[in-house]
Amino acid sequence: MSITFESLALSEPIQRALREREYTTPSPIQEQTIPYVLEGHDVMGCAQTGTGKTAAFALPILEHLDKNPRKRTPKSPRVLVIAPTRELAIQIEESFSAYGTHIRFQSEVIFGGVGQNPQVRAVQKGPEVLVATPGRLLDLMSQRLLSLKSLEVFVIDEADRMLDMGFIHDVRKIIAELPAKRQSLFFSATMPNSIIELAGTILTQPKHVEVTPPATTVEKIDQRVCHIAKADKRDLLTDILRDHKEGLTLVFTGMKHVANRIAEHLTKKGMPAAAIHGNKSQTARVRALESFRKGKIRVLVATDIAARGIDVKGIDLVINYDLPNEPDSYVHRIGRTARAGAEGHAISFCDELSQGLLRQIEKNIRMEIPVDRAHAYHRDPRPGDKDESQQQQSRRERGSNQRRGNRNGRNQNGNRGSQSRNPSPDRNRSRRRRQQK
Ligand code: AMP
Repeated sequence: MSITFESLALSEPIQRALREREYTTPSPIQEQTIPYVLEGHDVMGCAQTGTGKTAAFALPILEHLDKNPRKRTPKSPRVLVIAPTRELAIQIEESFSAYGTHIRFQSEVIFGGVGQNPQVRAVQKGPEVLVATPGRLLDLMSQRLLSLKSLEVFVIDEADRMLDMGFIHDVRKIIAELPAKRQSLFFSATMPNSIIELAGTILTQPKHVEVTPPATTVEKIDQRVCHIAKADKRDLLTDILRDHKEGLTLVFTGMKHVANRIAEHLTKKGMPAAAIHGNKSQTARVRALESFRKGKIRVLVATDIAARGIDVKGIDLVINYDLPNEPDSYVHRIGRTARAGAEGHAISFCDELSQGLLRQIEKNIRMEIPVDRAHAYHRDPRPGDKDESQQQQSRRERGSNQRRGNRNGRNQNGNRGSQSRNPSPDRNRSRRRRQQK
């Protein structure tokens, strides 16, 4: 018999909030993590997005705040959560507010790319919980507008993404400022060596929790690959979306301008769509996400980084218009559907340049993705097809060697602002990244 939230020793106001959200059963990551966090242990959690990991750390933290009320100290949060993107940071803060709606506590979120004054005022009030992206957090700390001296719990979410995005220096600087006596919770969807090393510098005798083996595809998702010529991809996408009358679709592209073009094309064809990527303003992104969430538009076209942290219920189809360059991103992308046990579908377009990428993804997820030959544009892969991935593979290897020695900083959204002030020794590489995101 599966356990219930009642058996997890969470207080009544939290249980009430869960009932109101109609959460009845803890997800596996919650079942494993909550008791450890309540006991005060450090935790190293390997969990993909969509598994309920936000509540896995937010619920026991709220329980701790509820049981141990303390007078607010301006500028000094008791709980700090760092997340790689503003979208994810916003969602985490919303989760704290929702789960903690019946307890006395305050949470705030800070991120780069917008004016700092409202955030400074928010931090000044002394919220118990602060959710932040690394760059803005360090900015406020360096201006002495924020202090971590009262910190009791430190959470790092989506640590693998954080490293991928070049935040390692920022993360190290933050870690250096943490008080020695604290509880630390570390979450990552994948556990490569670089992540394990980083976790080693943060955690003390951590309890390990894992809900799916690293880089395994969410099982519930029905996956297919369509072999197709690059030139036909837009028509196939249009056909698929025309047939997909219910539910929300998230389309991933590698390049920002492609995302724009597809969104415009679909809108012209009577399927209103919006694009989100690093070149869009924060306001435009929030607006697009809101329309998508409310179902006013049923198609959102996104680049990887912009889509990170999107937690929209009802996405039942993810389309990889372009295969991701990083095989791990495949798991993150398709994890946007089938959230919290719902059914989901993922269709990936594999063109003549992407055969190698597909092979890497399949190696990574340890399965062959079934081929869909039933569409009008099927094209069997040919021996003469160029293989973009080999080039990307050596690029990636160069990148990771470089990161190991001297990681460069990259902005989460490829735009200016506090997140992008890191030195960037490899200009070509960051330019490439910018083009891609
Ligand atoms: P996360 O992995 O934290 O991004 O959560 C994924 C989604 O699952 C979010 O929409 C949550 O609101 C939802 N969720 C989390 N825990 C539960 C639960 N125990 N029961 C039902 N839904 C949940």
